[in-house]
Amino acid sequence: MSKNRLMAPGPTPVPEKALLRMADTIIHHRTPQFQAVMKGVNAKLKQVFRTENPVLIMSASGTGAMETSISNFLSSGDKAIVINSGKFGERFRDICLAFGVECVTYDVEWGRAADPAQVEKLLKDNPGVKAVYATLCETSTGVAHDIQAIGKVVGATPAILVVDAVSGLTADEFLPDEWGVDVVVCGSQKGLMLPPGLAFISVSGKAKELMESSTLPKYYFSLKAALKSHGKDDTPWTPAVSLVMGLDTVLDIILAEGLDNVVSRHALLANATREAVKAMGLELFAERPSNVLTSVKVPEGVDGKALVKTMRDVEGITIAGGQSDLSGKIFRIAHLGYMDKYDTISALAGIEMVLKNMGYGITPGKGVAKAQEFLK
Ligand SMILES: *Cc1c(COP(=O)(O)O)cnc(C)c1O
Repeated sequence: MSKNRLMAPGPTPVPEKALLRMADTIIHHRTPQFQAVMKGVNAKLKQVFRTENPVLIMSASGTGAMETSISNFLSSGDKAIVINSGKFGERFRDICLAFGVECVTYDVEWGRAADPAQVEKLLKDNPGVKAVYATLCETSTGVAHDIQAIGKVVGATPAILVVDAVSGLTADEFLPDEWGVDVVVCGSQKGLMLPPGLAFISVSGKAKELMESSTLPKYYFSLKAALKSHGKDDTPWTPAVSLVMGLDTVLDIILAEGLDNVVSRHALLANATREAVKAMGLELFAERPSNVLTSVKVPEGVDGKALVKTMRDVEGITIAGGQSDLSGKIFRIAHLGYMDKYDTISALAGIEMVLKNMGYGITPGKGVAKAQEFLK
């Protein structure tokens, strides 16, 4: 017998209630019954995204919403600033380049946080920039960027601020309207506790104006079409009906716990994990750590890839390794979505046991005991 525990930053575990809801008989989407669900979901999404702007639902993984945030606001030859501090910043850059957008890249060393003053300087040096692309939590490094400060500098210019909150939403503090974020992109399989398959994008008034003049090609990912349908609690194409049903349930679960409480729970689990990891004699990787995940440097003499593999294939606990240049150098433990203190304790206990078996000098229980001090 073995149990599988998902402790990677997406996909994350799905609450049983949502699984059951999604197992229900499918209904037709062009019906008053489905539109009633959509109406509720649309209202609840605004609450969970903490925005007055419409939040559109797309059938795609998070990257579909990232692409939409480029193809729908920009035109060929437009200039955009991309904050590139990891795998997902890189993705924004690559999508810009694929669409012929002139990309001013602010390369931030992986593991470090973007400096808002640097964004301000780039905006000054590059008048005419149409949009700034930033990431709330750079999942590949575990860094949470200071979106509030970045929002302040972008808000003072005609550019729109697009934030990839695919992993950060519900885990890190995030007040898009207050902070001057025009467009938020998200996905279903992280803090929203659903299987992969839905993407989300919110659109401010400032962004809508830019959308009107955008000439980059789009069809399936047309925000104009999506906004038109959204007004009637409808979608332009066949929506992922079962996932929308699940979304209805998870939004209820999130709102019942209370958004502030959800963020606090993530903060508590993240803090306990960081302290536990330090008690194990390990070093943290992220300069400004997110509540989404804890990134940890693989200690000298330990095979980082084998650690992640053994955790998954022997212990049944899926954590994440490092990506690209960080492969084998860090491992990442998520605290994301449907997780409680015992999930965190299990993951820490597993890491201690595997590290010991790999020859790392550690007394199992040290990290767990430290976490328990915070989780009591
Ligand atoms: C997971 C994730 C995405 C989206 O990736 P998909 O594989 O397309 O769902 C985008 N940005 C961040 C920061 C993420 O963590």
